[in-house]
Amino acid sequence: MKYIGAHVSASGGVENAIKNAQAIGATAFALFTKNQRQWLAPALSDKQIEQFKALMGEAGYDAAQVLPHDSYLINLGHPDVEGLEKSRESFFEEMRRCELLGLDRLNFHPGSHLKRISEEESLDLIAESINMALERTSGVTAVIENTAGQGSNLGFRFEHLAYIIDRVKDKSRVGVCLDTCHTFAAGYDLRTREALDTTFAEFDRVVGFNYLRGMHLNDAMKPLGSRVDRHAPLGDGEIGWECFRYIMSDSRFDNIPLILETPDEARWADEIAALKSFCK
Ligand SMILES: [Zn+2]
Ligand SMILES: [Zn+2]
Repeated sequence: MKYIGAHVSASGGVENAIKNAQAIGATAFALFTKNQRQWLAPALSDKQIEQFKALMGEAGYDAAQVLPHDSYLINLGHPDVEGLEKSRESFFEEMRRCELLGLDRLNFHPGSHLKRISEEESLDLIAESINMALERTSGVTAVIENTAGQGSNLGFRFEHLAYIIDRVKDKSRVGVCLDTCHTFAAGYDLRTREALDTTFAEFDRVVGFNYLRGMHLNDAMKPLGSRVDRHAPLGDGEIGWECFRYIMSDSRFDNIPLILETPDEARWADEIAALKSFCK
């Protein structure tokens, strides 16, 4: 089964994300469980939690169809003690929010070394940060997203993801999310069936499909290997439709949220319909 949707707005309350997903014919969705540009958020009330769970049931979504995303401020590989501690506390809070809402995964960008420590030192901090959050929560998987490798962001090589997973103690609660735009910007070709076979074979060899807990489906504005993170609507970028046709007809991408983060919200319903039409 393919679960297809978009990163919808949760403004006005987390429960609104469910309605926004339904409105565009989505069978999956992503959301921020708090304002993504602020460190602090009011705690979720019991009423909000109940409402969210009730609406999930009514709409027929279960946890495997939802991919919450954490705040952009968090850097789990931060070189400074203060920045690192703040990030770790905030990440724990976000894991906890997912747990309270009955959600089972949290998608995050691994972190940045800010050119002050080595890649390895920063990756070690990220793994340690994940271990700390997993110890304090239950039932929620930490889902590491691959990045375009812009600036000093880590996670642009599949090897980075494998390095982190290797150091996470509870392997049952760590996973990855592949973003097609980031993958392509990082230098992995996705334009032809041959290229797709090669790239995903490499992903399977280095990380393993057993860790895949979600995908972000975005076309890329910039060329292969640009290391620039600019999403484009499906078919309008450098990647092209073949990649999305391929993913929709490949069972390795079954039963995980497949999420659009494409820039034109008005096109999401059509993009979802197109993706659905490619499913076998
Ligand atoms: Zn993404
Ligand atoms: Zn991106």
